[in-house]
Amino acid sequence: MECTYCGCSVEDHDPLYLSPTPAGDPTAQFCNYGCLSAHIDEADLTTGTTCQWSPES
Ligand SMILES: [Zn+2]
Repeated sequence: MECTYCGCSVEDHDPLYLSPTPAGDPTAQFCNYGCLSAHIDEADLTTGTTCQWSPES
């Protein structure tokens, strides 16, 4: 899968996946914490809309 933020293949890095529910399918994935953090800043998600995420692949 491609990183939601930068478009790189997340499997080449240490991927993080975002899901709306613990058992749900990922809706976003990121290469690493850097891309996740950058995406959160850019998308203004710091208001608590993404409290569920899993580092599992
Ligand atoms: Zn990335």
